[in-house]
Amino acid sequence: MEQKRWELPPGRAEEGFEDKKPLFTLAEAVAESNRCLYCADAPCIKACPTAINIPEFIRKIGTGNVKGAARTILSANILGQSCAQACPVEVLCAGSCVYTGWGREPIAIGRLQRYAVENTLPKSPNLFQARPPTGKRVALVGSGPASIAAAGLLALEGHTCIIYERKQIPGGLNTLGIAPYKLKGPQALKELEWVLSLGRIELRTGVEVVEHATAPGQLAASELLSTHDAVFLGLGLGADSRLGVPGEEGPGVEGATHLIERLKVEPGFKLEGVKHALVVGGGNTALDIAHELALLGVQVSMVYRRSEKEMGGYVHELDAARLDGVRLVESRQPVEVVRKDGKVVAVKLAATREGKPVPGTEELVPTELVVMAIGQERATQVAKAFPGVELDSRGRVKVAAATHRTGHPKVWSGGDCVNGGKEVVNAVAEAKLAVADIQRHLVGE
Ligand SMILES: Cc1cc2nc3c(=O)[nH]c(=O)nc-3n(C[C@H](O)[C@H](O)[C@H](O)COP(=O)(O)OP(=O)(O)OC[C@H]3O[C@@H](n4cnc5c(N)ncnc54)[C@H](O)[C@@H]3O)c2cc1C
Ligand code: SF4
Repeated sequence: MEQKRWELPPGRAEEGFEDKKPLFTLAEAVAESNRCLYCADAPCIKACPTAINIPEFIRKIGTGNVKGAARTILSANILGQSCAQACPVEVLCAGSCVYTGWGREPIAIGRLQRYAVENTLPKSPNLFQARPPTGKRVALVGSGPASIAAAGLLALEGHTCIIYERKQIPGGLNTLGIAPYKLKGPQALKELEWVLSLGRIELRTGVEVVEHATAPGQLAASELLSTHDAVFLGLGLGADSRLGVPGEEGPGVEGATHLIERLKVEPGFKLEGVKHALVVGGGNTALDIAHELALLGVQVSMVYRRSEKEMGGYVHELDAARLDGVRLVESRQPVEVVRKDGKVVAVKLAATREGKPVPGTEELVPTELVVMAIGQERATQVAKAFPGVELDSRGRVKVAAATHRTGHPKVWSGGDCVNGGKEVVNAVAEAKLAVADIQRHLVGE
């Protein structure tokens, strides 16, 4: 199937970011693989949500079988390229490596994985062979990691897959959200193109699945159900949440994921007149945008309403952000964004008790930019357009844990819209469960 190529325009701010974990050379990869103890009951495998056979692929790298190593990785995790670069290995595989338990440097599993996959994919397009066509059609809503992984696996089973993506740039947060010092947009798109090349997968961008189609570029859920044998919902999350304080609306206050997306894809992106930024939040998205702004030369303070030890963000990410100049302000919360002639000039911060502002404790902190990183809305309303599909009290799509099937017998779901926002590797693991059940539904296997 002839597929369009997606390219990002040059002049993006993300191009200036250095890779924090660059591709190993051959000598580095061999030396690192030789440190692995090939543990019999390897804890690193248990810590990987996709259960990649880590000692097996590392052994293959050490014996010069790099293509075999890539096959081991990709047969367990079809997005092994982006996971190699984006996974928080410090709290997953490498965090469980026996060396970590001994207080020594763990095996650089992510970097070895990247070495195997990145050196294999462009040279070995036929690493996997799709089964003969089954004549079944599966629709996937959204083109983030959940849908891309599901489409790749379904295509290998011989099914025709059509991915519908409302944005013009595909890939979801893999292309538009991951910190550029880990994974840049073109790298995510290259992996996506490799998955598309596996079989009969068509990717239609600029198509939003809605309850009732009333405008061009919209497709009704009922039409999707009647024209496909199965539907997978990989909707992700929605827009950045707002705090609801005076002065918040207007220029100078940005949502974190929106700002990260601009930084990653907007040609000529610049923060005119911004010397200081105040990032509100304590999760990984807050840490990411704070760190990215610091690397762009901005003086960044991160304001969190509770204490450092209560932060949701990873300790290793906070340490790395601090090394690049990010300052953490604990137990404070903005109660007003102060503007002069419409421009943001300061934020009024109050001290907090149990996460709530204490009246009379306000102080003014000068800043030119405020970034809200306090969570994302849900993008799941459309799920209700599929009869039988339900949302839980937090707006997440309800699925059966073992199969990821929703309350509609033809609809499955996975990724952030189900788990509320985890990692790329979780989206892949959930897609695998859904695909196994879709396969049972379509061909009885
Ligand atoms: C700032 C940020 C940084 C992150 N960094 C990391 C990291 O370093 N490592 C890591 O492993 N994870 C990271 N994550 C998490 C990771 O990106 C997500 O877990 C993962 O992308 C989830 O994949 P998904 O397919 O479920 O959703 P998404 O990637 O959000 O994709 C959903 C797609 O569905 C589309 N869509 C939604 N509704 C419709 C509709 N009605 N019709 C058509 N299309 C629709 C959206 O436009 C989007 O493209 C990060 C997340 C954020 C926000
Ligand atoms: S736990 Fe560490 S040493 Fe053991 S197999 Fe895994 S990577 Fe190798």
